[in-house]
Amino acid sequence: MQVKVNLQEIREKMKLACEKVRESVEDITIIAVTKYVTIERAKEAVEAGVTNLGENREEGLLAKREVLMDEPVWHFIGSLQTRKVKSIIDHVDYIHSLDRLSLAKEINKRASKKIKCFVQVNVSQEESKHGIAPEETIDFIKSLDAFPNIEIVGLMTMAPFTDNEEFLRSCFRNLKALQTEVQSLKISNAPCTELSMGMSNDYSIAIEEGATMIRIGTALVGSDK
Ligand SMILES: *Cc1c(COP(=O)(O)O)cnc(C)c1O
Repeated sequence: MQVKVNLQEIREKMKLACEKVRESVEDITIIAVTKYVTIERAKEAVEAGVTNLGENREEGLLAKREVLMDEPVWHFIGSLQTRKVKSIIDHVDYIHSLDRLSLAKEINKRASKKIKCFVQVNVSQEESKHGIAPEETIDFIKSLDAFPNIEIVGLMTMAPFTDNEEFLRSCFRNLKALQTEVQSLKISNAPCTELSMGMSNDYSIAIEEGATMIRIGTALVGSDK
């Protein structure tokens, strides 16, 4: 496993996707999802030049953060239980999985500073997926204006696991459309400038449809814990 080689390859593909839509590759952040791998591998990613790491469990986050400390920017990307908020809140820079009011209340209560959050939207409407329904997203974001410690920096989605490119594309496109709608409301706590979408198997498509943050595990750091 050579994280450095994987990173080069991913950057090449990102460049190609960006060229197609005349975007700049510098505007896209790679989050290395290290949930499957060891601390050593996460460290290798940072040494290879990755500046953002993503974890989906309290244990993995705290263990890796203890070693790598503040060097990378930390993202919490998984479904987040309300009772876990207290233990992770001071150790993350971004939370990608805000999808319910009870969670927003808890984040707002436990945070000692403004927390950058993504609202997770279930654009594919799969029952197994977390996230708020697209048609409820706007009202949900409006209701978050009551929480001064929460800033909605963007929207996040997990596309279904499929190689149906058109379907993937339509999921990402729907999230982009929703972002445009949120932005037009000009809510002070919801600048919503980011789109967190795209994983190992679909990041090129996500970039073509407007992703600003891609979350890559397997293709970058492997999945061999
Ligand atoms: C695991 C995970 C990823 C990374 O998945 P890969 O397919 O390994 O790239 C991205 N986002 C979320 C929310 C995840 O849970």
